[in-house]
Amino acid sequence: MSNHDWSFQTKLLHNEAKVDTGTGAVSVPIHHSSTFHQFNVDEFGKYDYARSGNPTREALEQAIAELEGGTRGLAFSSGMAAISTAFLLLSQGDHVLVTEDVYGGTFRIITDVLTRFGIEHTFVDMTDLHQVASEIRPNTKVIYMETPSNPLLKVTDIRGIVNLAKANNCLTFLDNTFLTPELQRPLEHGVDVVLHSATKFLSGHSDVLAGLAVVKDEELGNRLYKLQNAFGAVLGVQDAWLVLRGLKTLHVRLKQSQESALKLAHFLSEHPKVDEVYYPGLSFHPGYDTQRYQADGPGAVLSFKLANYDAVKTLVENVKLPVFAVSLGAVESILSYPAKMSHAAMPPEEREKRGISDGLLRLSVGLENVDDLIKDFDEALEKLPHVKKEESVR
Ligand SMILES: *Cc1c(COP(=O)(O)O)cnc(C)c1O
Repeated sequence: MSNHDWSFQTKLLHNEAKVDTGTGAVSVPIHHSSTFHQFNVDEFGKYDYARSGNPTREALEQAIAELEGGTRGLAFSSGMAAISTAFLLLSQGDHVLVTEDVYGGTFRIITDVLTRFGIEHTFVDMTDLHQVASEIRPNTKVIYMETPSNPLLKVTDIRGIVNLAKANNCLTFLDNTFLTPELQRPLEHGVDVVLHSATKFLSGHSDVLAGLAVVKDEELGNRLYKLQNAFGAVLGVQDAWLVLRGLKTLHVRLKQSQESALKLAHFLSEHPKVDEVYYPGLSFHPGYDTQRYQADGPGAVLSFKLANYDAVKTLVENVKLPVFAVSLGAVESILSYPAKMSHAAMPPEEREKRGISDGLLRLSVGLENVDDLIKDFDEALEKLPHVKKEESVR
């Protein structure tokens, strides 16, 4: 049923799971079975126990592998389960280089957990290839990217990092949550492991927690599969089905949200009460050219900086359409406050160092009418006290 010449938009619908071969069902059957009967004592079937393999989860794993251009996809109970399992490829004494404004949960596993297992790390500005090169050690085994990064939307030159990694015999991991394969396919740039919080754009409806990992190299795929089975943080079948359903509309959702994000980014960047807007779709964003080269769009998440905490509080209390919450990538717009939400796990001095200030807000643009969104933000910003840009804390 699958054909690699079809466009991404079409592939979202016409995959291996399009029609169930047994029944003709056009929605993937949810196989609620933890174990599978073996018909022959000499030769066991494809499935034996659901942690090791389940047809519903497998449908999602095949779909994401095809969409990312990989050979193997693996589904986990959350994005953090996928990321943590990938880190199990490392051993005591290994070192990992990590992008400095990494997702807060990833920061936590690296600094609180991996350290206890003797796995070292260094945070670097991944947009600075010279800095990355200078921090590579003989025991560096993984370079971990997140691009665009969270929450400052900094763009990493994927090929630049991949070349450095290959020259130094280490693997590259890339958290592709913000863009999804619709907009960025890191395996095509030579990345080894693509990671996702499928909780976000891939499923898209704020109704499921899920994680995915995709690789192109078959041997690496086998190693990661063994770890998935060993660690056991697999995705349940109901949730696998929800992600599969969400995937079908990924193209239309992201296209619409991205269009609105660009309009909102322009609106905010021209607004006198907004100090700064971070969005790789703005031509003055430092990563604009790199983003255009390596991705098919800037995505639907942007961040912006207000003068201080009081300004943030006033805006949040007055804006009506977005939910004020953690998470992103949903049908509804989500406004979040990184300092107290996604990056609360990061000590204040580490946050400040990374530019995640008390005035920073992140907006994931949903499917509301963009003029309504602009009107809503305009009215809420109107309530903010007047601050001259020079006076605001930069
Ligand atoms: C949400 C998120 C994660 C963690 O995923 P969960 O599904 O919440 O475990 C990892 N990386 C990024 C960029 C995220 O936004």
